[in-house]
Amino acid sequence: MSTKPPCILWFRRDLRLADHPALRAAAEGGRPVIPVFIRDHTVDGLGAAPRWRLDRGLEVFAEALEAAGSRLILRAGPALEVLRELVKETGAEAVYWSRLYDPAARERDARVKEGLRDDGLEAKSFPGHLLFEPWTVETGQGGFYKVFTPYWKAVRGRDLPKPCPKPTLHTPDRWPDSEDRADWGLGHAMRRGAAVVAERVAPGEAAANRRFGQFVARRIKDYDTERDMVAEDGTSGMSQYLSLGEVSPLTLWTKSLEAKGKGAETFRKELAWREFAYHLMFHTPHLTDAPWREEWRHFPWNEDERRREVIAWKRGRTGEPLVDAAMREMYVTGRMHNRARMVVASHLCKHLLCHWRIGLRWFEEHLVDWDPANNALGWQWVAGSGPDAAPYFRVFNPETQADRFDPDGDYRKRWIAEGQADPPDTALSFFDAIPEGWAMRPGDSYPERIVGLKEGRERALAAYEETKA
Ligand code: FAD
Repeated sequence: MSTKPPCILWFRRDLRLADHPALRAAAEGGRPVIPVFIRDHTVDGLGAAPRWRLDRGLEVFAEALEAAGSRLILRAGPALEVLRELVKETGAEAVYWSRLYDPAARERDARVKEGLRDDGLEAKSFPGHLLFEPWTVETGQGGFYKVFTPYWKAVRGRDLPKPCPKPTLHTPDRWPDSEDRADWGLGHAMRRGAAVVAERVAPGEAAANRRFGQFVARRIKDYDTERDMVAEDGTSGMSQYLSLGEVSPLTLWTKSLEAKGKGAETFRKELAWREFAYHLMFHTPHLTDAPWREEWRHFPWNEDERRREVIAWKRGRTGEPLVDAAMREMYVTGRMHNRARMVVASHLCKHLLCHWRIGLRWFEEHLVDWDPANNALGWQWVAGSGPDAAPYFRVFNPETQADRFDPDGDYRKRWIAEGQADPPDTALSFFDAIPEGWAMRPGDSYPERIVGLKEGRERALAAYEETKA
């Protein structure tokens, strides 16, 4: 216990103790720290799976804080009001937090900072969610980067600090009351899916470090070649942890340096894609909801979610096995292989000519690793409307993608039950996770393609030529 006025640490997407610059600064000099999580409009606005995953993350993080002799105080309401109440109750003189970069968080945080400073408090934000703050990477002309390769060249050799160790946490002489996480019901919207996905998710900082340790020891050396093979466990699986800040990107970057070779370098390059996505979201916030390139506003994408092809895509019933397998993987695991994300996104936007926003929102609802910047960049990149886009005429052919990246069909067999005499549990789990109202059964016949690949490709290219003209 300490007699100094406490510092409130407002946790958001930084549910960890190690390499946490804001927490370290808060705890400096033996000052008591009051860890707080606020359920505000940004939490209530999350999709079903990310909100469920947050609930799991909060549970484990509260346990980690208890083990460190501290607590996690939960409160619901507008952030500034809640923080003001807590300051009154605890006599805190400072509120610290780690920066976020999406438009809603930035707007809220600016208001909170101004309000608390007007009250005479120390209100301070810290880095930690990214390796490079978006405003610190500039082109020779002083602008921001719009293409990944020059961005990568600009950051790859930069000096980075060492991750900071876990601080010792001192407690206040009196804890404020906390709400009960169970009363919040953050996971309710997952319904039947929660039990299925829960079997495949290990939340928290300790789980992240375990998984990453195994990746560095066993798989990072082959990452360069294995990362595209959809049936293999060839990637780090860190996205859900990075999304909630259960591990810092600096920790991953630093540990990857212990492994030599091309695989480790490629892994750091992928981490830099995340940085690039944040760089773009910071400088062009419309990345998250409008075509990044102005001219794409007029592209004739269908945005009617009730259409047959949209429903088929969402339910993994397009008749295109790689696409359907991937959509089902997401339903069962809350995640999807990166290669498969590109294939399903291309199929929706190009072969089926549907707006990328439909896919963006579906992912936002179903991914446990949902990330505002990565999701938006991923969709716009594939659709062609984004920065650094693959040229529009590069339409992923799901058949040739399957031949290359799932040559033995293991991934498709793992996730599609229809047509198999003895389907594996993975494929059957899908039927336990989906809404009963979809009335899908493992014994159904597998559907015909809803659009021919040649026909869909030609239609998409014709629409593109017309818009361009
Ligand atoms: P690894 O291959 O081990 O990569 C390590 C880390 O690098 C990842 O955790 C991630 O933080 C970053 N990374 C890797 N690939 C990318 C990429 N293409 N863009 C940006 N960062 C990358 N990623 C999310 O974290 N959340 C999302 O909501 C999301 N939505 C996507 C939507 C689409 C349409 C596409 C094409 C990609 C999306 N991605 C998203 C990026 C990528 O698919 C995932 O980050 C990756 O599959 C996560 O698996 P992993 O952690 O094993 O990745």
